[in-house]
Amino acid sequence: MILIDGKKTSSEIKNEIATRVAEIKAEGGKTPHLAAVLVGNDGASQTYVGAKVKACEEVGFQSTLVRLESDISEAELLKVVEDINENPDIDGLIVQLPLPKHISVDKVTNKIKPEKDVDGFTPANVGRMTLNWPAYVAATPYGIVELLKRYNIETSGKHCVVIGRSHIVGSPMSILMARNGYPGNATVTLTHSKTQNLAEICRTADILIVAIGKPEFVTADMVKPGAVVIDVGIHRIEDPSKKSGFRLIGDVKFDEVAPLASAITPVPGGVGPMTIAALLYNTLQSAEKKVFG
Ligand code: NAD
Repeated sequence: MILIDGKKTSSEIKNEIATRVAEIKAEGGKTPHLAAVLVGNDGASQTYVGAKVKACEEVGFQSTLVRLESDISEAELLKVVEDINENPDIDGLIVQLPLPKHISVDKVTNKIKPEKDVDGFTPANVGRMTLNWPAYVAATPYGIVELLKRYNIETSGKHCVVIGRSHIVGSPMSILMARNGYPGNATVTLTHSKTQNLAEICRTADILIVAIGKPEFVTADMVKPGAVVIDVGIHRIEDPSKKSGFRLIGDVKFDEVAPLASAITPVPGGVGPMTIAALLYNTLQSAEKKVFG
């Protein structure tokens, strides 16, 4: 069984990005610049944005964190996005989710210029990805694709079962695995909350990608021996034996599934660490005008 190490892979990608940034700077080019907008004081959001800003520093990017009060109006937030859209020094723009209830996520997302949408959430980028055009692919699906590639996992002609159809993970993952390319060319079954006989379908998967958001949902009896298992789920559960008082588990019952799998991502240290690497990669692509030209 191969343990797919997302922590190691993400630090390799960060090193590659840092090397490229150093080259750009040595050639007298502009430093890639990511702007992150954070609305309100949600603890988890602050942690995520903080990690993104820190990662920018690590690879030599410039970053700007725009902090806004939680009672900001939708119109004011849209204006902030517009100003960043028009700022020629900024290559990438992310708006940390969730947003306060009085603000429409769809409206804000749609306001982001597709050329700066390094989260890959705008309709333009989702459409481009679906058409197999150059696109900013959302962080989690991008991270999974990169892990499959770097671990040389064969996908062509394989049966890939995706559990979960969220806009940020399951749906884009199903599109990427079915597209004509590598990784891709798989025969894909996208399953969701209305799917019948889920366990039976999962047992036919050569590649099982699990993004259901239910702790340890996938058990050994749902996995074909030799399958590649990608666990997207992250859940914090209490564990008094840990100093922190908790530990992280995934959507897959790792201990019983791992011995059956030919390759598997652990939680933590699998898909999770790849997301920031993906964001940095997209920002570099934007700075180098690689996606929209
Ligand atoms: P979500 O809640 O938006 O979507 C869950 C999906 O599971 C839905 O499409 C639903 O139809 C499907 N589902 C629910 N019950 C089902 C059932 N019984 N059978 C089949 N399908 C069922 O979740 P999400 O945002 O895609 O996230 C999924 C998990 O991944 C969560 O644990 C989340 O925390 C984690 N996540 C991790 C990362 C990362 O970087 N590792 C990124 C995003 C999400």
